[in-house]
Amino acid sequence: MADQANPFESLQEQVDDAAVAVDVSPGVLKRLKNPERVLETNLTFELDDGSLETVRAYRSQFNGDRGPYKGGIRYHPGVTRDEVKALSGWMAYKCAVVDLPYGGGKGGIAIDPADYSETELERLTRAFATEIRPLIGEDRDIPAPDVNTGQREMNWIKDTYETLENTTAPGVITGKALDSGGSEGRVEATGRSVAISAREIFDWLDRDLDGATVAVQGYGNAGSIGASLIDDLGGDVVAVSDSSGGIYDAAGVDPDAVKAHKNETGSVTGYGDTETVTNEELLTLDVDLLVPAALENAIDGDLAEAVEADVIVEAANGPLTPDADDVLGERDVWVVPDILANAGGVTVSYFEWVQNRQRFSWSESRVNEELERVITESFDGLVDAYEATDVQNLRTAAYVVAIERIVNAYDQAGSWP
Ligand code: GLU
Repeated sequence: MADQANPFESLQEQVDDAAVAVDVSPGVLKRLKNPERVLETNLTFELDDGSLETVRAYRSQFNGDRGPYKGGIRYHPGVTRDEVKALSGWMAYKCAVVDLPYGGGKGGIAIDPADYSETELERLTRAFATEIRPLIGEDRDIPAPDVNTGQREMNWIKDTYETLENTTAPGVITGKALDSGGSEGRVEATGRSVAISAREIFDWLDRDLDGATVAVQGYGNAGSIGASLIDDLGGDVVAVSDSSGGIYDAAGVDPDAVKAHKNETGSVTGYGDTETVTNEELLTLDVDLLVPAALENAIDGDLAEAVEADVIVEAANGPLTPDADDVLGERDVWVVPDILANAGGVTVSYFEWVQNRQRFSWSESRVNEELERVITESFDGLVDAYEATDVQNLRTAAYVVAIERIVNAYDQAGSWP
């Protein structure tokens, strides 16, 4: 990582920046900057050799004024209490900016899943599901995938919850496999909103995405699918990276072929006849569009001075520090913030939950049409807020929209006399 900014402090700074443009009292502002509650717990589970392992896990419920808490669960050695608190806040603002009837939450387990077998991961995931069972529920808190988790883990959590509750409640979790109550289009949804956001910002700036050069940092679900869909829109993906390093080819790469190479070898590096670049070099390439799709703090204030891209679309959560935002703003680099650009994932999670509640499945084209509508309308709303206020960038405009919605819900709920 380029920088060790505390993500929770970054979130609080982002909220403060927007609060000056919204009529919010100091007491409510404090509420908007802190989670309602955080579970921090030990998970003890059995390893394949019969010994016991204990790891640290978290679930943060940030704000429930607009509906059930919603947000993923990540498995990563860098997971901390403050990281999960920040990520849960970003979920609350993300759900509000795209107007989903949800609050925000996030969970995490501080492990490297590569250190464990599948059976060990299943025992660990069921231990976590058992621990958070009193907190979650179709109308309470609805987890989903995040970094290093996917359909497999969601299916285990659903099964654990339903078994312990002696019911069927597929809407307790989203991002499930299709045959376990998942939705068409959910796997592609985050990458799809990244591509739609890229199209919309280029359009708004009167620039052509067709033929624009693109670099993508991080080649997991959001990065690889985002790259492929941007390529479909005519973008020219010239560089991509993952945690092992990056590749660059001025003539462009085929994002799907790079993905196949990564599936086969474990990394994008060594693909075809490409030049090797570091993650830092990739982030400072002279491209039209940069898509950070890895983790928080990829670009800090110092690295931002060296960024050559004209536009950044954030596929990851929190990839730019507040210092980076300031520098990029001064340098006229446009940033479509994470809480809009990667909101496709939670938006299709919402569609999955609606389908689960109705016990009625939608077609893939219906999912994608509704997603297209949500993201384009939200982008327009954000640009309107940017033009109507005095805020310094699109991120702050997004927070203005989100904070207004959350505060309205809070005010309208009234108080107990
Ligand atoms: N983990 C994803 C995010 O950060 C998706 C969350 C969800 O679907 O609830 O937005």
